[in-house]
Amino acid sequence: MRARLALLAAATCLAGTAQAATIYPLDRATVLVGSPFDFKVELDQVYDAGDVEVTVNGEAYADVFGSEAEFVAEENGKDGVAGSAMILRGISLTEAGDYAVAVKAGDETKDVTWTVYDTPAMPKAKNIIFFVADGMSMGHRTAARIMSKGMTEGKADGRLSMDGLDHMATIGTSSTHSIATDSANTMSAYMTGHKTRVNALGVYADRTPNSQDDPKVETIAEALRRQTGKSIGVVSTAEIEDATPAAVVAHTRLRADKADIVGMFYDIKPEVILGGGSAYFLKSDVAGSKRKDDKDYISMFEDAGYTVVTSADELDTAEKPEDGKLLGLFHTGNMDTKLDRSFLKKGSVEKFPNQPGLVEMTDAAIEQLSKNPEGFFLMVEAATVDKMSHPLDWDRAVVDMIEFDQAIGSAMEWMNSHPDTMIVVTGDHTHGFSVIGTVDDEVDAEEMRDKVLTYDAAGFPNYTDDNGDGYPDKVDVSRRLAMFSNNFPDYYETFRPKLDGPFQPAVKDENGRYVANDAYKDVPGAVLRTGNLPHNASTGVHAVDDVVLQSTGPGAEGFKGYMEQSDVYGVLADTFALGTSQKQ
Ligand SMILES: [Zn+2]
Repeated sequence: MRARLALLAAATCLAGTAQAATIYPLDRATVLVGSPFDFKVELDQVYDAGDVEVTVNGEAYADVFGSEAEFVAEENGKDGVAGSAMILRGISLTEAGDYAVAVKAGDETKDVTWTVYDTPAMPKAKNIIFFVADGMSMGHRTAARIMSKGMTEGKADGRLSMDGLDHMATIGTSSTHSIATDSANTMSAYMTGHKTRVNALGVYADRTPNSQDDPKVETIAEALRRQTGKSIGVVSTAEIEDATPAAVVAHTRLRADKADIVGMFYDIKPEVILGGGSAYFLKSDVAGSKRKDDKDYISMFEDAGYTVVTSADELDTAEKPEDGKLLGLFHTGNMDTKLDRSFLKKGSVEKFPNQPGLVEMTDAAIEQLSKNPEGFFLMVEAATVDKMSHPLDWDRAVVDMIEFDQAIGSAMEWMNSHPDTMIVVTGDHTHGFSVIGTVDDEVDAEEMRDKVLTYDAAGFPNYTDDNGDGYPDKVDVSRRLAMFSNNFPDYYETFRPKLDGPFQPAVKDENGRYVANDAYKDVPGAVLRTGNLPHNASTGVHAVDDVVLQSTGPGAEGFKGYMEQSDVYGVLADTFALGTSQKQ
């Protein structure tokens, strides 16, 4: 405490001089003891190396970090020389405590403090299953519960599996440069313990144009390889190199570096990889490839001992190796929604008719990973909750929430016989989405908007589930949930599920501005909603609202109150005792 007070006093004295330089990791970073990271100082002016002084807790930095940084006299920023820089890669701090880093060069000064934290000597849990429904907000949960379980006299007729998780926290998702956020920086905060900038994964976003030279932090996959013999699994209904699954392994300033991200998966070699996105695994001359080189990652993974499967049937029946290595790629792009795959047969289901669902992928991953006696870390993402919330396709998003919940239910059942497992369920960020009542076709009114029932008039929707599979028998019932977003481009609100395929609310006009998609203009009762987003927005955007995280099992007591997204990593590290080597 005394050290902190002294620091505060020092900072106050210096308030008169310019705090122009940037130090990475940023101020208030929390770092796992022994975890490698890159140290970088960006100065606003050009200096001689001898004119830059860097200290750590008052000592010369090289004595504390163990080596000298590379000095870059003139570092190029996005528009020419940005100033001098110092960079020192792969340092690690082996003692817990506060580290006050001070930089002085000419008039420029900068002070930051990092907190290095230790973990218990012994792991609390053997396995962690980390469930993320991308974009999951309170509205999604409520809608899924009502649609799946029903409601009578104001009380739910059943609970979601996630409703039963006994520990809870609210999570602040903002990024380092903005209150708003995307799946790259949010998931990266969960998977590294460091917040970063929109579009960045496993790095702090520096000023140079190169997307892969930015200061790195360790991912959970790297920490697991460094300290444990555990297996790693990554499951998603998105392209597997999309931001959320990529955050488990990747280091890049740009989530769009998808071809390179496949290489980052290959470097780590998670034992189980299941999802979409095969286009980035195929060499450039194969039809459907999105690579620009001749790397054939399917063969490379096969040569590394992976069983490769491309359909639900193969996932079910393929002979799987005892060391668990399994690569399943079921779509060239993002996989289809549950509503399309199992019920409507729309989207791209005709082209990819045999895609597994999230439940089957989760079960297969657990079966493979649990062959490792040392345990595993599994990340499961329901990607389409977000991918359908953007285009305001609430029925597809909510049915995928039900599928997400069933995957959680299946894992919780497995956990009954494997109680040394922690389950975490969360979203990475939210959408501005709410259920506000019902839409009732039976109301005698001219306009559809007068069939939107609120307050007492809303009553209860009339979804049925005659076959008891947890999904509504159909989503286009006569009295259905009234679901709306608080942000949108110009679009036609139809007040109905989109049975012909995922909703495309807006399209580009000849000036490149997004306007309402005329394809929905003639749906009976459709009304034009004039957007409240800029004209370059094709869909709804993420909300800044907190995410709710729930958890159960050993270690879950670490989740409580308000937490920064980066703090979640500390609980995972604590649960697995990642500060201590468990290598056999
Ligand atoms: Zn999104």
